[in-house]
Amino acid sequence: MRFVFAFIPGVLPLLLLANPALTLKTDPSSNCAIISVLLLGKVAFPGSESYNVSETSYFALQGRLSPACIAMPSSAEDVATIVGTLAKLPDAVFAIRSGGHSPNPGWANAAQGITSDLQQLNKVHVSSDGSIAAVGPGARWVDVHRVLDPLELDVVGGKFGSVGVAGLILGGISAFSPSRGWACDNVANFQIVLASGETVIANDSNEYADLFIALKGGQNNFGVVTRFDLRTFRHGLYWGGNIAYPDSTEQAQLAAYITFKGPSYDSIAEIEQSFMYASSPNGSASRSCLNTMFYADPVVDPSGLRPFSDIQPQLFSTMRIATATAFAEELNPGQLARSTYVIHTSVTFRFTPEIIPRVFAIWKVFCRRIELTGMANLIFFGLPPDSHPDRELSLALFSLHWLDAGYADMITVEARTLIRDIEDLVADARLAHPFLYANWAAWWQDPIRGYGKESVRHLQRMSGKYDPDRVFQEKVPGRFKLPRDEF
Ligand SMILES: Cc1cc2nc3c(=O)[nH]c(=O)nc-3n(C[C@H](O)[C@H](O)[C@H](O)COP(=O)(O)OP(=O)(O)OC[C@H]3O[C@@H](n4cnc5c(N)ncnc54)[C@H](O)[C@@H]3O)c2cc1C
Repeated sequence: MRFVFAFIPGVLPLLLLANPALTLKTDPSSNCAIISVLLLGKVAFPGSESYNVSETSYFALQGRLSPACIAMPSSAEDVATIVGTLAKLPDAVFAIRSGGHSPNPGWANAAQGITSDLQQLNKVHVSSDGSIAAVGPGARWVDVHRVLDPLELDVVGGKFGSVGVAGLILGGISAFSPSRGWACDNVANFQIVLASGETVIANDSNEYADLFIALKGGQNNFGVVTRFDLRTFRHGLYWGGNIAYPDSTEQAQLAAYITFKGPSYDSIAEIEQSFMYASSPNGSASRSCLNTMFYADPVVDPSGLRPFSDIQPQLFSTMRIATATAFAEELNPGQLARSTYVIHTSVTFRFTPEIIPRVFAIWKVFCRRIELTGMANLIFFGLPPDSHPDRELSLALFSLHWLDAGYADMITVEARTLIRDIEDLVADARLAHPFLYANWAAWWQDPIRGYGKESVRHLQRMSGKYDPDRVFQEKVPGRFKLPRDEF
């Protein structure tokens, strides 16, 4: 049976609960009304303060999409109610939002649909033996570090304080990754709400072990994660911070990165090396360099990072021994970013000393060409040679910020050209690699295919098993969906 439903408060939820096979045609406002009855007092509508606070707290301006309403669940049961109900409504579109830090448009917000903002699922709880930190998806990394630091514990997670826990773990890298692997490799259990509305715990030794594997990089294709149980390790203070330099150091920076990636690497050192171009509305432009560096032990000026810390002149340095919380508070780009439009995109390639200056040269031409009012950064991301996923890989991340919405199409076209130019360069040099860093891939890229045939087939099988009606493929916007073709 199929009919257009005119909303009568309280009736549809009861109808649906009583007869799950009922198929109804609804619109976004009636879907919101249904959810607001089921989640009394936890759904915000346009014009309310909590709606505005949520809507204006996306990392990038293009994250604001004016959903019909924003559901703010405070428990896994609430999430199960939302998913279980909306999955049955054929026209429902519902987005999942944790930290809201993905700049890809429409990934964590649903234009005219329903957005589930998980900000209230932000608890951090440490088990009595200290081995597991149970973290809600709505927590930010600074919240996690504030709980773990006094216990001298840490987890493989984010170092930027304002970034959300969920989005990072479902595809990300940590300052500890060179020695301890991906964030998802350090999850003991995922608590997840499936398309059926059922809440399950997936781990490597229970009946959901196949789903557990799929969630390591599987993005939002299988359900809404409502809790991550993260394995902790003993960790106190460590060395890290930022050093800024003038652009006169550019060649020395490239040489330092090449040395860092060479055979004398130190696997507890981590670097994000940024080449920054900034241009203001009055036409003035400047270039500079910024190295964000960590050494996972409390060692002052360790030799593993000295190729960078020795470079002179320096504009400022915050390198010191400190807590993870202090670093997370320092790396908190929220305010700056919330006033700009943003693209994050990246290329992965096999490292050779010769390729680094050639990638850099393409980026420099790009900056001159686009005359952006805003900021363009190239970040060489230093996975040391013994790290996952592949010992010789290097990442080139690009972060573009601009102020005027009208430039979005032009900048997108230019960014795609930049990526194509670098892909052509590394292909010609026989250094191409299919891996793409999912957390820094733009919406037009396809990191899932880069996982390889076997993994993609596993993801497709798991989607068929746990989401046979394709709810998370078709009703939930955002993140990289699974390829539909035989892979
Ligand atoms: C300043 C900055 C620093 C960063 N540093 C790092 C870094 O060090 N390492 C790294 O790996 N990445 C890093 N990133 C990338 C970041 O991890 C990703 O953008 C990530 O998606 C952000 O997570 P979030 O929870 O804030 O995302 P959101 O924007 O809320 O969500 C991103 C996507 O994940 C899905 N999602 C969110 N919550 C859930 C859930 N509970 N269940 C299922 N799906 C969900 C959403 O549907 C959405 O499509 C950084 C980003 C920024 C802006």
